[in-house]
Amino acid sequence: MRNIPVLEPEWGDILNLTHMRRYIMETHAANLKPLTSRSIADPAPAVPSETLNPFEIVQKQLDDCARFINLDAGTHQLLRTPMFEMAVSIPVTMDDGTTRVFQGYRVQHNMARGPAKGGVRFHPDETIDTVRALATWMTWKCSLLDLPLGGGKGGVICDPRTMSSGELERLSREYIRAIAPIIGPDRDIPAPDVYTNPQVMAWMMDEYSRIVGKNGNGVVTGKPICVGGSKGRIDATARGGMYAIREAARTLEIDLADARVAVQGFGNVGEWTCRFLHEMGAKVVAVSDITGGVYREGGLDPDDLCRHLSEGGRMAEYDGEAVTNEELLGIGVDVLVPAAVENVIDERTARSISARLVVEAANGPTTLEGETLLRERGVDLMPDILANSGGVIASYMEWQQARSGALGRADETRNTIAERLDAAFHGVIATASERQVTYRMAAQIAAVGELIATMRDRGWIPPQ
Ligand code: NAD
Repeated sequence: MRNIPVLEPEWGDILNLTHMRRYIMETHAANLKPLTSRSIADPAPAVPSETLNPFEIVQKQLDDCARFINLDAGTHQLLRTPMFEMAVSIPVTMDDGTTRVFQGYRVQHNMARGPAKGGVRFHPDETIDTVRALATWMTWKCSLLDLPLGGGKGGVICDPRTMSSGELERLSREYIRAIAPIIGPDRDIPAPDVYTNPQVMAWMMDEYSRIVGKNGNGVVTGKPICVGGSKGRIDATARGGMYAIREAARTLEIDLADARVAVQGFGNVGEWTCRFLHEMGAKVVAVSDITGGVYREGGLDPDDLCRHLSEGGRMAEYDGEAVTNEELLGIGVDVLVPAAVENVIDERTARSISARLVVEAANGPTTLEGETLLRERGVDLMPDILANSGGVIASYMEWQQARSGALGRADETRNTIAERLDAAFHGVIATASERQVTYRMAAQIAAVGELIATMRDRGWIPPQ
């Protein structure tokens, strides 16, 4: 099997708001319905009988773990709810001179291990419960990876496809002004997430620096290199995902050089995941974005697809067969990588999945019922808190770099991602096998265990 390739990103592209621009182009072209996976996948969905509330899902995942490890009621309750939440109204002057007020959130789930860390999402479907869930997953991720960070997340309900670059900049700056009292390099460090990117981080860092009257480049990560970004950050989440895919494939005896793969989502995580898989020899037979997907039996070249999209082409117009996001999930592949949004693998879509391995590059792509069905069907699942943790490892390096003033190197970031993920991955595999639990439960047990030890040592909960 080949090693993980070292692909060098095009920094010019990144600074040019590549994803944001592509998003605006693709959504304008498609005249889309609301951005939910259901609306894309199924214009007339059956009413789901299961919960699609990500916070209820994250709580249920914790409840299962708490029962398994016999967690005391008080600690369980502490971990079930975020420690701090802020809701803000953000007035923004639009290009036409009117003022629009956006709703934003910042949630800090648990900061026992260090300052909160977690992205900011700009999305029309954002809810406080999505932000709570994402903050909680960040806590587990940082604990699992043994990083001195807690879990946080932020979001703004907005639709970037209807906003100009100037409006996005003003929104980013106003959001930071609103949450400035609760963020900072020692308190809470935002980063990019869906529909935010290095440019947005640069605006946020700049606004925070103006507020505190000094350079505040440790306040956010995922910045462009020239404003203190980490050289390995842009592809870090996908790189971490690749390590998870490689190790899981080894365990399942899937030869990646000969494997068929489908990737849902072609943003930061999905695009780089496709590149890494393609470089390793896997056949990326299907890819999608919010507008739909494309399938090609012989495999797609991710760079060529990028060129097509950046010239204004739509995914479905690329050389191949057009597929919906839902159809993509059911394509016969060895590895399926959901890299877009929550709840795409649910009680309905899980039945069509025939992949041997699902790797959750997105946060929360699988519902509770979806996961049960996958398990019954013998599909292995590598959970989000492990599979997409490469990003927070690189963010940790960037934050450390900002605090020390050291010059970060891409190879250091890549090596740290590899080391941390390797350790976490093998711990998870061992626990899953010893205790006969799923990879998700094994990862959750490790994360909760680390956090409990920290809280105990700090005196937040009684000694054992
Ligand atoms: P992004 O904004 O760069 O890309 C999102 C992609 O998903 C785009 O291709 C978009 O068209 C597509 N998409 C959006 N809604 C969709 C839908 N309903 N159906 C199908 N496709 C849809 O975002 P990203 O940073 O790549 O994040 C993707 C996922 O990975 C999210 O769940 C995010 O929380 C998670 N994640 C990201 C990072 C990171 O470093 N960026 C780190 C950890 C986890």
